[in-house]
Amino acid sequence: MENKELISCRNVCVNYGSLVAVDNISFSLNKGDYLCIVGANGSGKSTLVKAILGLCKPADGEIVKSCKGIGYLGQQNVIQRDFPATVREVVISGCLPQNILPLYSKAEKKRAKEEIYKLGLEKLTKKSFKELSGGQMQRVLLARAFCAATELLILDEPVNGLDPIVTDELYSIVRNRNREEKLTVMMVSHDIHRAVQNATHILHMNNQAMFFGTAEDYKKTPLYNEMTTVETCSTHACTHCGSDCTASHIRVGVYHS
Ligand code: ADP
Ligand code: MG
Repeated sequence: MENKELISCRNVCVNYGSLVAVDNISFSLNKGDYLCIVGANGSGKSTLVKAILGLCKPADGEIVKSCKGIGYLGQQNVIQRDFPATVREVVISGCLPQNILPLYSKAEKKRAKEEIYKLGLEKLTKKSFKELSGGQMQRVLLARAFCAATELLILDEPVNGLDPIVTDELYSIVRNRNREEKLTVMMVSHDIHRAVQNATHILHMNNQAMFFGTAEDYKKTPLYNEMTTVETCSTHACTHCGSDCTASHIRVGVYHS
């Protein structure tokens, strides 16, 4: 693996008024790395990603970016789902950062066609985006992000709300690009098991960095143990599902009293 540093964050702090969302985070990402950012809701993961993308400004610290082609798939929202365009138009718009008007070069059209092919979207190209299933939409948005991601792919919870089969498919597409094409990946994930299976590195946030290092080293930490401990609710009063529940829940952002 080459050792070219693509992103370096040094003591980065991001605030919303008096709220410190990202507190003194330092880490770096080299070419070919696959970093998963994990942590409970509200721990600053999306804010850190936005700061790296230049969408919000750090109050302190420094972010050095040594890469140009960044593809980004943000946390999904209702507006995105209602986007009035065909699948092809959505995919090729990933090439837009270089263009102000949607006039695409031959190379960009070729790239969009390749991504449509690689993600198995050929039969859907003329379909309206908003008519697709959730899994199909995420595939299209991933193809769009790949169009821009010549060096770095950034995904923020890309599988939220998708079924386990579609989730595995998307993880496998991203992992193959990382392993085979050495595409550098930064993904915010709630899925601790898939995170350690797929990523080379883990950043565990709780506004501050609780851990940054290799996925192998992360698995040896008490933090990882805590994230993957399964508790049987019947032995505790469960704030998630009620005190009589006998089901087991994985403690990822759901804490049992
Ligand atoms: P995560 O992605 O880990 O769930 P976020 O980065 O979205 O966390 O949020 C971190 C903290 O910043 C949370 O407390 C959240 O409520 C707050 N926050 C996020 N976005 C904004 C915003 N635009 N304005 C004010 N507070 C925000
Ligand atoms: Mg988030």
